[in-house]
Amino acid sequence: MAEKIIGIDLGTTNSEVAVVDNGRVTVIDITSGHPILPSFVGLADDGAILVGEPARNQYVLYPERTIKSIKRRMGGADQVELGDTTYTPQEISAIILRRLKDIAEAHLGEPVHKAVITVPAYFSDTQRQATREAGEIAGLEVARIINEPTAAALSYEANHQGHKKVLVYDLGGGTFDVSVVGIEDNVVEVLASHGNNHLGGDDFDAKIVEHLVEHLKGQNVDPTESRKAMARITRAAETAKIALSDQPYTRVEEEYLLERDGTPVNLSLELSRDEYEDMITGYIDETLEAVHIALKGANLTVSAIDEVLLVGGATRTPLITRRLEEDLGLTVRAEVNPDLCVAAGAAIQAGMLAGETVSAVLVDITPYTFGTSAVSELNGIPYPFTYVPIIHKNTPIPVTKSDVVYTMHDRQEAVLVHVYQGEDPDALNNIELGQFFVENLSKVPAGNPIIIQFSLDLNGIMNVSAREKKTGLEKSIRIDNVLSRFQEGELKTARARVDALFADEEKPAETAKSTTDHQLTAQARALVEKAERLLDSATEDDREEMINLIEGIKDALGNNDFPALAAPMAALSDILFYLES
Ligand code: AMP
Repeated sequence: MAEKIIGIDLGTTNSEVAVVDNGRVTVIDITSGHPILPSFVGLADDGAILVGEPARNQYVLYPERTIKSIKRRMGGADQVELGDTTYTPQEISAIILRRLKDIAEAHLGEPVHKAVITVPAYFSDTQRQATREAGEIAGLEVARIINEPTAAALSYEANHQGHKKVLVYDLGGGTFDVSVVGIEDNVVEVLASHGNNHLGGDDFDAKIVEHLVEHLKGQNVDPTESRKAMARITRAAETAKIALSDQPYTRVEEEYLLERDGTPVNLSLELSRDEYEDMITGYIDETLEAVHIALKGANLTVSAIDEVLLVGGATRTPLITRRLEEDLGLTVRAEVNPDLCVAAGAAIQAGMLAGETVSAVLVDITPYTFGTSAVSELNGIPYPFTYVPIIHKNTPIPVTKSDVVYTMHDRQEAVLVHVYQGEDPDALNNIELGQFFVENLSKVPAGNPIIIQFSLDLNGIMNVSAREKKTGLEKSIRIDNVLSRFQEGELKTARARVDALFADEEKPAETAKSTTDHQLTAQARALVEKAERLLDSATEDDREEMINLIEGIKDALGNNDFPALAAPMAALSDILFYLES
């Protein structure tokens, strides 16, 4: 058997190692269930070398004997001090690589000699050479240095036939870059790249820290003098930020943060996603400007881009997907874990070099969107069944997400919560999976926030709860088999097809027309639903045509123009038949 080659993402904040086994990628656990090694190196009290989490933990207390972000110095001439010895950046990186190599060897049960290591697309030759040297110091022959966006694209598109252009939007803890990547029959190349290597999730944390400090100052407490208090506030800010990626509110609670005149000061403050999004909007604007600069560098316009792939933990911030979709009209993909996709892609490249057959990373995702409905504007008009998606399609499962809706009337005592599956902005065009009442709400003015939470597990069990934020009053339902309901679309298509066979049979004149229209509508919807599901497996040309036909059908349905349905439905059925055979 050929010698294994490992794939390494040597990151500024975190590093990971992955390997291909039997054609499948595994990102190897550093500690049980946890595949991320913080890129920190330190010396313990007794002079022992610390790598990863233990080094990160001592950073706040002993910055003089802890090194972080060594990647920023790669290729430079400066040495760094650790205890009373100085080291080159290559040596510090080699300590991280050596730990990853040991972890891979323990996982594989055999020695490892070769690695593919990733670097940012903007790295110069000198920086690449320094990375290669770090590998060699760690006892690894560097089989290839590849660009991080290339690796990310490989994790999604290994073995992709045909051509495609994607944007890889990578927002980590401290760096941002966006790359235009061309994929041509499995050859992946970076066409242009732009970014800011001092922008990332840490800046988002800093905004929340500022907000918390202001809040404390408002109570005549200044925590900025206390290193320990600031360290706790910084951690709490990151925790709050992460919570707000999945829910509309979070509460920051830090007890006994400080003492003032001998009495303890507690920090307790609620933060809403809306407030947080306002704080970081400027940063997101900046990243979107970088997208345009990268596109310009590649001589392309947004319309030439097939989709965006998200990389880096900070891209879990929902505002990022929303802005990329709304402002640029792009399809955003985030199925592959954004912290791990670069390591996974490095392993795929390594596997290819070792002569293994490898496929893109496979993850369990929900192929449909699930959500509720609320009174909101649809096409500029207030509409009672505006769809509020909660779990978006292509989200990895298991997943729990929540959002907030509000009561409409003063003293409103009950709300009816609907649960839908589907993609249509009009909830009534989606499939209703269930509904339930929440009663005995507080008799308060309109605008009482109700938090709706959806939890979907791998077995297709969906739990939906609704909680009155003010009181915690909660009601929930469980819906089984929401994933196997995907076959429902197929059943519907089949039913509609069989119905259509009978459509020409003679019917009593007065009912015939409306029944046929009704059937035709059901059939058209089922066809559209199926086509949307198969879009990903179609070639680019077919996909374009399918999208046009889907739009044609939707337009005709929207106008109740049944004769206009015939042509696009026939054409779409043909493509689907061909796609499935
Ligand atoms: P990376 O450098 O790619 O590991 O990204 C690390 C950054 O992602 C840090 O700033 C984290 O706080 C941030 N991050 C991790 N998970 C989330 C999340 N669920 N929502 C928002 N930011 C996150």
